[in-house]
Amino acid sequence: MATNRTFTMIKPDAFAEGNSGAILKMIEEAGFKIVAMKATQLTPAIAGKFYEVHSERPFYADLCAYMSSGPIIAAILEKDNAVEDFRKLIGATNPADAAEGTIRKIFAKSIEANAVHGSDSDENAAIEGSFYFSQTERVG
Ligand code: GDP
Ligand code: MG
Repeated sequence: MATNRTFTMIKPDAFAEGNSGAILKMIEEAGFKIVAMKATQLTPAIAGKFYEVHSERPFYADLCAYMSSGPIIAAILEKDNAVEDFRKLIGATNPADAAEGTIRKIFAKSIEANAVHGSDSDENAAIEGSFYFSQTERVG
């Protein structure tokens, strides 16, 4: 995957509240193109694998339970400087710290149920995108 891509999930809280459309609209209006997308529901084991990097953190079990608690949308997004620009668009992990106008500020409920995921590096964007999408399920 090219380095002008990032990976996102609309998390169970935002999906359940019917905020997926509004969030995707903000993403497109910020200049990101959707080059892969699907709705799915993770099992606890798959959520655990996705978040394996956090397996030593105290919130890991809660996070895996939460991320498998309902449907999500997974998507690969394309834009120049995608990873950094998308992190800016979503805002800080804790919505209490997120800047005004960011997706998490608008839609997140808590530090855990924070509406969206965004990759933190080009390398992880490629790994995370490939975790969900095969070559034939994405553009390019
Ligand atoms: P992100 O890159 O901004 O999503 O944040 P991290 O990579 O640090 O954490 C991954 C996800 O774990 C976050 O998006 C939250 O859903 C959850 N999380 C992070 N910190 C906490 C915490 O202190 N408590 C709980 N319950 N969940 C957390
Ligand atoms: Mg992270």
